[in-house]
Amino acid sequence: MNPESLFAVALGIAPPWEVEGVEFSKETRRLDIKIGFSRGATFVCPVCGSSAPAYDTKEKTWRHLNFFQYEAYLTAWVPRVKCPNAGCGVKRVSVPWAREGSGFTLLFEALVMTLAREMPIKVAASFIGEHDTRIWRVIDHYIQDARAHVDHSGVQRVGMDETSARRGQDYVSFFFDMDQRRLLFGTEGKDHKTVKAFTEDLATHNGSAENVTDASLDMSKAFIKGVREAMPNAEITFDPFHLIKLMNDSLSKVRAEEAKLFPGLMKGSRYAFLKNPENLTEKQEGTLTKLCNYRLKTARAYLLKLALQDVYFAPTRVDAERRLKAWYNWAIRSQIDQVRKVAKTVKNHWNGILAWFDSKLSNGFIEAINGLIQSTKRRARGYRTTKNLINMAYLIAGKLDFRLPT
Ligand SMILES: [Zn+2]
Repeated sequence: MNPESLFAVALGIAPPWEVEGVEFSKETRRLDIKIGFSRGATFVCPVCGSSAPAYDTKEKTWRHLNFFQYEAYLTAWVPRVKCPNAGCGVKRVSVPWAREGSGFTLLFEALVMTLAREMPIKVAASFIGEHDTRIWRVIDHYIQDARAHVDHSGVQRVGMDETSARRGQDYVSFFFDMDQRRLLFGTEGKDHKTVKAFTEDLATHNGSAENVTDASLDMSKAFIKGVREAMPNAEITFDPFHLIKLMNDSLSKVRAEEAKLFPGLMKGSRYAFLKNPENLTEKQEGTLTKLCNYRLKTARAYLLKLALQDVYFAPTRVDAERRLKAWYNWAIRSQIDQVRKVAKTVKNHWNGILAWFDSKLSNGFIEAINGLIQSTKRRARGYRTTKNLINMAYLIAGKLDFRLPT
C-alpha cells in the first residue's frame, strides 16, 4: 500500500474521490492532503440526485484533526456539475468529509463539539488554535440541526426562569421540561412574550401549549401573565426556592437596618441569621438567643423565616394551608415592614404557593443549571453574543443528539 492509499483509508475517502498526494512541511508543522477525482468521474446533482459529469472545479481547503503535532488540511478541487435535467442548472457538489459552507472536516467538528462540552470555548479555541467565533459557528450549526429533530410531544410540566446575559444588561429566558430535566427553549428577553415564543417553538416540535398541565415559575409578573395567556390548561406553581429567597432577602435587610442602630449587639450575627437552627455553631446559637432576649426585629424576622420554611414540611396541602394562614396572620401583624411586604406577596400568590403540595415542582435543578451557565460565562469572559449564551445552555442542558461522525 502506498502512503496515498493509506491516507485514503484513514480518512474514509472513496471513489470517485482519491488521495493524490500528501505533503509534510517541517517549517510550518503542517500536513497537506490533496484530494482529487478520477478522469471522467460522475457526481450526484445536489438538486435532483441524477448522475452528472464535472463542469468546472474550484479549490477548497478544510482543517482536519491534527496528525500528532502537525496541523492537517484537506485540499480538493471540488467540481460543479451540469445536470442533464436542465432545470437544475450548474451546481457545486457536496463532499463526504465536510458539510456545506464549513472550513472544517466533519471529524474536526466532532472534536470541536466534544471540547465545547468539556471546557470554556475560549480555552477550546486556543487549544486547537482557532478563533472562538469559528468555534461558536460550528456549535450553532449542530445545535440548530439537533433542535430541528427534537420531539417535544410528551412535554406536560414546564419550568421557566430568567438569567442575566453579558454583564447583566440583557436577559435571557429559559424553558425546561421538568420531568425530563432538560432545556427545551431559550430566548432573549424576560417579558411575557417569551412564554408565547416558547409555546410557538413547542408547537414546531410536535408539542402543544394545551398539553401543559403545570408550570413552575418565580413570582414574576411577566411569566404569570405569559402563562395565563399562552398555556390555557396550566396550573401555576410558585417555586419554593424563590419564596424562601424572598424571605431571606427581607431578613437580611431587617438585620442590616438594626445593625446600624445596635452595632455592638449585632456583631457577628450576619451568617447566624441565614442558617437553620440545626446548622448553627454553639457560638452562633448563643448570639441568636441573646438577640431574641433583646426582642429585636431581626430575631422575630428570623423566627418568621423558620415558620415559613416549616410550611413546606406540612404532610398535606390542607395542613400546609393551615400553617400558611397562621404564618400570614403573624407576619402581617409583625410591625416589620420588610416582613409585611413578604406577607402581602404571599397573599397575592396564595394558590400558586399551595399548588406546590400537588405538583411538587421545584426550580432547584434550573437554578443549578443557571449557576453552571453563569460560571462558564465568567470563566470564558463573556459569550460575545446572547445567541452564544443560549447555545451554551443547550449544550449543557439540552440533552440534544448531535449526530456527529465518529
Ligand atoms: Zn439535477
